[in-house]
Amino acid sequence: MAGTIRRLEETVVNRIAAGEVIVRPANAVKEMLENCLDAKSSSIQVVVKSGGLKLLQIQDNGTGIRRDDMGIVCERFTTSKLQKFEDLTSIATYGFRGEALASISHVAHVTIVTRTADSKCAYKASYSDGKPLATPKPCAGNQGTQITVEDLFYNVPSRRKAMRSPGEEHAKVAEVMSRYAIHNAGVGFTLKKQGESMAELRTSPTSSTIDNIRTVYGPAVARELIEVKCDDSRLAFSMKGYISNANYSTKKFIFLLFINHRLVDSTALRKALEAVYSAYLPKNMHPFVYMSVEIMPSHVDVNVHPTKHEVHFLHEDVIIEAIQKQVETSLLGCNSSRTFFTQALLPGAIVPVSEVTSSGTSSGTSSKTYAHQLVRTDHRDQKLEAFLKKPEDPIISSPSVSAKTSVAEVDSAIPSTSTTTDADATDVPMATEEHKKQKKRPREERIEEESEEAIIGEDESRGEGNKSPQRRPITLTSVLTLHQEIKDNMHTGLREMVTQLKFVGCVDPTRALVQHQTKLYLVSTRRLSQELFYQLALFDFGNFGMLRLSEPAPIGELAMLALDSEESGWTEEDGSKEELSQYIVTFLQQKAPMLLDYFSLQIDSDGNLCTLPLLLDNYIPPLEGLPMFVLRLATEVDWDNEKECFQSFARECGLFYAIRSSLASTSEDSKSWKWTVEHALFPAFRASLLPPKMFAEDRSVLQIANLPDLYKVFERC
Ligand code: ADP
Ligand code: MG
Repeated sequence: MAGTIRRLEETVVNRIAAGEVIVRPANAVKEMLENCLDAKSSSIQVVVKSGGLKLLQIQDNGTGIRRDDMGIVCERFTTSKLQKFEDLTSIATYGFRGEALASISHVAHVTIVTRTADSKCAYKASYSDGKPLATPKPCAGNQGTQITVEDLFYNVPSRRKAMRSPGEEHAKVAEVMSRYAIHNAGVGFTLKKQGESMAELRTSPTSSTIDNIRTVYGPAVARELIEVKCDDSRLAFSMKGYISNANYSTKKFIFLLFINHRLVDSTALRKALEAVYSAYLPKNMHPFVYMSVEIMPSHVDVNVHPTKHEVHFLHEDVIIEAIQKQVETSLLGCNSSRTFFTQALLPGAIVPVSEVTSSGTSSGTSSKTYAHQLVRTDHRDQKLEAFLKKPEDPIISSPSVSAKTSVAEVDSAIPSTSTTTDADATDVPMATEEHKKQKKRPREERIEEESEEAIIGEDESRGEGNKSPQRRPITLTSVLTLHQEIKDNMHTGLREMVTQLKFVGCVDPTRALVQHQTKLYLVSTRRLSQELFYQLALFDFGNFGMLRLSEPAPIGELAMLALDSEESGWTEEDGSKEELSQYIVTFLQQKAPMLLDYFSLQIDSDGNLCTLPLLLDNYIPPLEGLPMFVLRLATEVDWDNEKECFQSFARECGLFYAIRSSLASTSEDSKSWKWTVEHALFPAFRASLLPPKMFAEDRSVLQIANLPDLYKVFERC
């Protein structure tokens, strides 16, 4: 039997329509927040009870509603924002259809208290089914609007039943609020549960977008954010926002998308972003993305259903691709993990996970070791060589190998000057054996050392050797001041790193790889050793052992050699080389007593250089630098002022003693320089180098990889 068609009562129509606009409390909150923002508020306070089902109260300090409009404000299709249909293409407000308040008033009890700037008092009215219950009553109130919505869906039992728990509804309300809070830096938002004194969410009108993200999502996300931006006039869109970098990931994709300031969703864009991040994040982990996209209003259809969250826009594919590219670029730009050496490093870096103890910093308070703290702490762990050499090749050369390449011998005798005290006698570390004198010239670079005697002490630092009680105390203010200056200029972070670093391997004589905690560094062995020798020259001042040249080297000839080299920069204007070198001999001879006393540098009466200071056990300065050293002693050292003199002398020592790349060129020496770097220089860095602050900036120490980042890159393979 066919039913009779009847016209529905208007209130029923409106109620059905309202149920479609306001599906749950969070929709009502969104609509009302947008109204507050349309009214140019700078402060919005929301109070919620039972997830908004019992009470939703929204208070703002915006323009307010004119008293004359209060009669129709809750009627359907009444709005102050849109007049003609064409206005839609240029609409700058959230609202335009005048449907929200009407809908709410059809499914809840609504009370509005509002006051405009030019009104003497506020007015209050309650509404039901779009109509005021009485004429607005004057009352006290500040400028702005307060809308109270009570008993949502009181007259739509089915809708009421469909509601999830108040807790879940509350979470939705809080989510909508916090997203608007992030997007509207400059407006203060407060969310409170009724009866509670503490706000659940509070942003200040003066806080930045990042501040607001921190407030809502916590510092863990906030500190890993990268700003993204792009502007494309051809596609008539712009985008800006903050996205998390590869260090951050979360189980659920947090995606805050605003298109033309409306909180929306775009599945296509969401997928595009996930695709970019999948290359950076561990499997099943997701990023945080806040993005505000502005598209020419005429390209977006805003006239979709108010609850419709998903949007589409003109040129969607190309715009999404452009955004995707921008995000990828930003991620790459900030991500230090995708650099070099990853392949070679990994097998050694992710070592014995089961037994690794935490790094040297471990204070002993916690025995738990987290994956990201797992580091190689045992020097027996594999070094770089293990990946490069055949297993039968010994990785560490025997002491005899290094002894073989000694250029000069260590003199255990006391420098025989009147000013030298007995203290030196027993103080010269190592070398107790008399070594056979060699007849070759030092500048010929290598002299065969026949003694097989080990002169190398494992990991023993010179600093400690010299802490014996016989050490000659130095009280010269100039030297003590220089000590203090070195200490004051120390970079504490780098010092800590140097004491704890693990040697990985040499790249060449002047560069080495080291590991500190989970990071891999490329350090300039040259710069570090130069600084080390400078510091040793000052800290062991007056207490050096002697390196005796196998045959005294005539200073005049050394100076001539130096002047002959391009490096000296000699020109004819400087005078004849012979005269100059003769002058240098005489000049340095005058300084001989002081040089011997303080620096164990001996010059005999014939103008020969006999000894050099032993700055570091088992380390012979690259003697090819000796001629320049001698020349520069005469020309670069400030001999007139005590402090400057010692400082510049120490600087010259640093320059001369520092390890050089030329060491690698002689194949026989190759084992030796590697041995020296690992067993003489690095232990000394660890024991005594106080890295100056500039090392943090001048690429002396360069981070090239971080294990957690590598792990992320590799996990997806
Ligand atoms: P729309 O926002 O589409 O215009 P609404 O039903 O949301 O429709 O609101 C109707 C009208 O009520 C608005 O056009 C505006 O003039 C007024 N209004 C609503 N809320 C506020 C508010 N918080 N402050 C000032 N005016 C408001
Ligand atoms: Mg509105």
